[in-house]
Formats: sequence, C-alpha cells, structure tokens
Amino acid sequence: MTTINIMLPKEITDRHQLPMHERIGYGMVALAAFLLLLGAFGGPLTASPVLYCLLTIGLSTIGGLMVILPRFRQLPGIKNNGVMTSGLTRRGLLAWMLGVAFTAFYVILYWYPEYLGSMTASVDPISWTLRGAPADRWFLYGTLYTVAVLIMGIRMLAKYRHSPYHLVRTASVMLSQLALAFVLPAILVRLHSHEFYFHYFWPLKPDYLFPSSLQALFASDDKLIVFMGFWTVMMSFIAVPVLTYFFGKRWYCSWVCGCGALAETMGDPFRQNSDKSLKAWKAERWIVHGVLVFIVLTTALIWLNSWYGGEILGSWSASWAKAYGFYIGSLFSGVIGVGFYPIMGSRVWCRFGCPQAAILGLLQKWFSRFRITTNGGQCISCGNCSTYCEMGIDVRSYAQRGVDIKRASCVGCGVCASVCPRGVLKLENQ
Ligand code: SF4
Ligand code: SF4
Repeated sequence: MTTINIMLPKEITDRHQLPMHERIGYGMVALAAFLLLLGAFGGPLTASPVLYCLLTIGLSTIGGLMVILPRFRQLPGIKNNGVMTSGLTRRGLLAWMLGVAFTAFYVILYWYPEYLGSMTASVDPISWTLRGAPADRWFLYGTLYTVAVLIMGIRMLAKYRHSPYHLVRTASVMLSQLALAFVLPAILVRLHSHEFYFHYFWPLKPDYLFPSSLQALFASDDKLIVFMGFWTVMMSFIAVPVLTYFFGKRWYCSWVCGCGALAETMGDPFRQNSDKSLKAWKAERWIVHGVLVFIVLTTALIWLNSWYGGEILGSWSASWAKAYGFYIGSLFSGVIGVGFYPIMGSRVWCRFGCPQAAILGLLQKWFSRFRITTNGGQCISCGNCSTYCEMGIDVRSYAQRGVDIKRASCVGCGVCASVCPRGVLKLENQ
C-alpha cells in the first residue's frame, strides 16, 4: 500500500498559533487602546499631550505595523486560512466584543462627547502642528480614522500585492483619506478658511448644496471659497455622471470615498459576513433608494422654502436638515455602518444607507460602460466570488450562467475576480 504525504504550507498548519511578533503587536494595540480610554478620566497621562500621543497613536501604529509588515513575506491573496472558522472573522464572541466596542465608541462620539474631553489631548500635538488650533472630538475621530485606513491599507497592499488593480485602488483610497479628508481640511482651518472636504458631494453631503451653503460660498470674496462652491456643483452634477459612465461607481466607492476607504481597509477581514440572501437584496433596494428619495425631497423642499423667503418651513427648515445629519449621517453611517462591521460585513452603510451609492448605482446599472464579464464555461462553482463579495452579490449565479454582472450595488472592488481560481471574472469597460 502506498502512503501519500501531503505537505501543507506552514502558514496553514500554524494558523491557530500566532507568531511572537504578532502577539506583541496585538498587545501593543490593546495597551494603546486601554491608555486612550484611561485618558478619558483625565489624570497625569493627559497632562503631557506629547507623551499621551506617543503612548496611544504611536504605540498602536508600531503594534499594527509589527502584525502587518511580516505579511509581505507570506503568499499574497486570500487563502481561506482559518477565516471561516475564526471567532473574530466569522461572528464569534471576539467579533461581537469588537462590534460592541466600535458601537460604544460611536455612541460616545455622537451623544456623550463630554467623555472624550480628555481623550482629545492625545491628538493635540498633531492638531497644533496641522491646524494651529487645539484638537476637538472630530479631529480625534478623523485622526483615528486616518490611522486605521493607513495601517490596514498597508495590510491590503501586502495581501493583494499580486494584483496591480488592488495596489492602485488601495493606494488611491489611502491617499484620498490622508490628503483630502485629513490634511487639506486641517490646512484650510489654519488658513482661517472654510473647513471643506473635496471628496464628498451631494447627496452624501446634502448640506453642501443647500441654498444657505451655496449663497455663503458665492457671496464670499475669498477665491478659495468661491472655488469650493464651483467644485461642489461641478462634481455633483457633471463629474459624477461622466466618471460613472466611463468607470462605473468604483471610481468613487472603491477609489475615493472615505467610507469606502475604511470598508476596503479596516473592513476587509469581515467582508465575507455580508448577507447574500434574496431578502437582504430586496431590503437593500427599498432602504437605499428610500434614503435617496428623502435627500432629493429634502433638498427640493429647502430650495423652495428659500425661494419663498422661508414661508413654507418656517423654523422647521433647520431641524428638517438636521434630521438627515442625525438619523442618517450619525446613526446609520457610524453606529450601524462601522459598529456592525464584524457582524454584518464591511459595507452595511454603502449597501443599505448611502444616498451617493444609490445614485451612482442607478447610473452604473442603466448608463455605464462598466461591467464584470463572465466566462461561464470555466466556472467550477466553488463559490469563492460570492463568499467574498462585500456587497452580498451572488456572483457565482451569474458566472454559472455566463451572464455579465451589471448590478447597481457592485462597488467594483475586484475581489471576486481576484479570488476566482479559474479566471472567470473580469472587470471591464465596454
Ligand atoms: S461583485 Fe465583485 S467587484 Fe462587485 S462588489 Fe462584489 S466582489 Fe466587489
Ligand atoms: S470563484 Fe470563479 S470558479 Fe468559483 S464560483 Fe466564482 S466564478 Fe465560478
């Protein structure tokens, strides 16, 4: 009788034993998070902002890099090494604990900012350097967000370094978050200009197109502010349809948007948890288009109200606009959108709540050259593509039938094509 010895790669046999450098790295991140929390109660730690900054942001950055950098020595790509059995990536106890921690952070950020008072001292040195002003809770949030995108972005670069598409799109979201969402708005504050985010447009930022915002921008003598008004109108009504015609919604959702940046970096370990059921697809279409209708009606109503000198809404106009900011902007995008990453996957907000994704999706489905082509004869029905689709699309069912995929929700992340062992799927502009 012949015995066959199968040698499994070391990274698969060792998957349940974390190497020493990873244990130290995770320990440093946990310690930094603990010190950040400790600072919320004030005390000697926050008395020295530079030390507090080094012990929190500095320590977590070094710890994260210790875990991630050695991945450049491992095989690239998704290898299913424990991802579907680990409690962290497959809705186990660790995932729930992480989800509760994320959600708690958002609840404190939006509703109990008084508990963040001392914590903001940890980013004070960065705020003074960039903005020439003390940090506030939004700067703290922006800094943590950007650090997460950059560190987890390096992880994405290591994981998908065999694919030029993933290298370019990951570098693009990292750069967009760092430059457009973090450094540039901070410099505008230093210049005493209007804090402005060049990568957000209507309807994701509906107030950018409200009459009061545009009137203030166009009435200003400041050339920079006039340019912001021009940029807002131009991007919302011209660039969005033109770029979506050529590239699909991926040019925004997977290459530029800040929410997409976090989903594609920090959310990547959880992408397989997206709900693929028909029920979820139906709910997604009703909810996301419902949000879009709400924004369109709100914008139209606020313009009409302004046209009639405030007679229609009276004192309601401000609260009407704030309703979006609170229920959609805060509750949906933060608390549910990011807080539920470990349980519901990385694109809950983009899939169910983002009005920008809704409008880009409609353009992509009916008016774009972008599609994922399928070579059905080659498909072996392994299901990798459906498993790793963060938008819950059953890619395999299209591949088996050899039908091109033109789904409104597809963000063109390209992971389905990368994980297909038969090269069935191709992201193309036709
Ligand atoms: S279908 Fe493919 S490219 Fe589109 S969102 Fe899903 S995994 Fe990404
Ligand atoms: S990953 Fe490729 S081979 Fe597997 S089901 Fe999807 S299209 Fe078919």
